[in-house]
Amino acid sequence: MSWSVPLTDLRITEDDIEAVLDCLRTGWLTMGPRVRAFERAFAAHVGVEHAVAVSSGTAALHLAALAAGIGPGDEVIVPNLTFVASAAAARYCGATPIFCDSLGAHDLNLDPADVCRRITPRTRAVVAVHFMGYAADVEALRTLCDERQLRLIEDTAQALGARTPSGRIAGTVGELGCFSLFSKKQLCVGEGGMVVTSDPELASKVRLLRSHAMTSVTWDRHQGYAETYDVVDIGFNFRMDEARAALGLSRMARLDDDIATRRAHVCHYRRALRNQDGIELPWDDEEVARASHFAFPVLLSDGQVRDRLRAGLADMGIQTSAYPAITDLSEYVVGRGDETLARSRELAERHCVLPLSSVMSEADVDKVVTAVARILDEQPAHARANA
Ligand SMILES: *Cc1c(COP(=O)(O)O)cnc(C)c1O
Repeated sequence: MSWSVPLTDLRITEDDIEAVLDCLRTGWLTMGPRVRAFERAFAAHVGVEHAVAVSSGTAALHLAALAAGIGPGDEVIVPNLTFVASAAAARYCGATPIFCDSLGAHDLNLDPADVCRRITPRTRAVVAVHFMGYAADVEALRTLCDERQLRLIEDTAQALGARTPSGRIAGTVGELGCFSLFSKKQLCVGEGGMVVTSDPELASKVRLLRSHAMTSVTWDRHQGYAETYDVVDIGFNFRMDEARAALGLSRMARLDDDIATRRAHVCHYRRALRNQDGIELPWDDEEVARASHFAFPVLLSDGQVRDRLRAGLADMGIQTSAYPAITDLSEYVVGRGDETLARSRELAERHCVLPLSSVMSEADVDKVVTAVARILDEQPAHARANA
């Protein structure tokens, strides 16, 4: 399928290509000086002491959960409306994800009051997801986690560059922040991730587990800093390689501009859709100004209208997406019919993610808006038949 307006898109510049070629020419491919430089630049960008590059955002969440001490028997509170990797991290550690509800149609993020209600003596941590690039209320969650002695892990996979109401950078309020560098994310290298923390012990734990819990890495041995190694835990191979780090470093230079372009498109969408019958826009203008815009979701009146809109847009070559609630996935079916997750389930059913990228044009946005209006303003066939 070749879309007239794809859900997302990216452009690799000549500089990006040169950076990767330079790396290949050195002949050093596994984790080495470029990964280190990328980590330093990333840490400086988000304003934390430590950043540890890993092979994916999922690996970042997995290692963050282990470093936070999550293990069998523990409960981890996770929003019901997110990507599955947010919940899988707890499962990898043998813990049980306990799902919490969304705030509502004005803010799709997790509801701190509902998090509070779900705390039990087994609760060890909260995974706060900054959904679609809008900061979750991590300041309220920070207070709650401090009071109840819980760890706060931020799933910032969709929100590199987003800010909280008090101006904190998303990913730096919890003990650990986890980022994704997957192709669709704001800063992408194909597959990659980053764990950030200001705690040196958590940083060393993540570093250790990233590479088999070995006490020295290949680059150290190559440099002659270490001749042998010990293994002190059950670690993984979640390393990032040099070519991806080179690409990430090169692309980071344009990150802020890319986010500004995404935000401008979102503002354009919102102006054009503000008075569209049948569309509700989550979040307000201030929140839009602080967000980093991974995606642009709109809400329809119900699941049927949402599905009709998505099918109509697909017919016109416009690609959309939508997130199922985690508790509606076969592997995670828990207490289906649990009324306490009603808001997240309803939002999952009636949201639609429209195309957004820093590469699309304002004309693309207009094309999507016109198509949305045409589909929503047209009566569905059965309504016409009954008229
Ligand atoms: C993309 C994403 C992840 C996983 O990141 P990968 O790099 O694809 O492994 C985790 N959580 C959320 C919310 C995401 O959107």
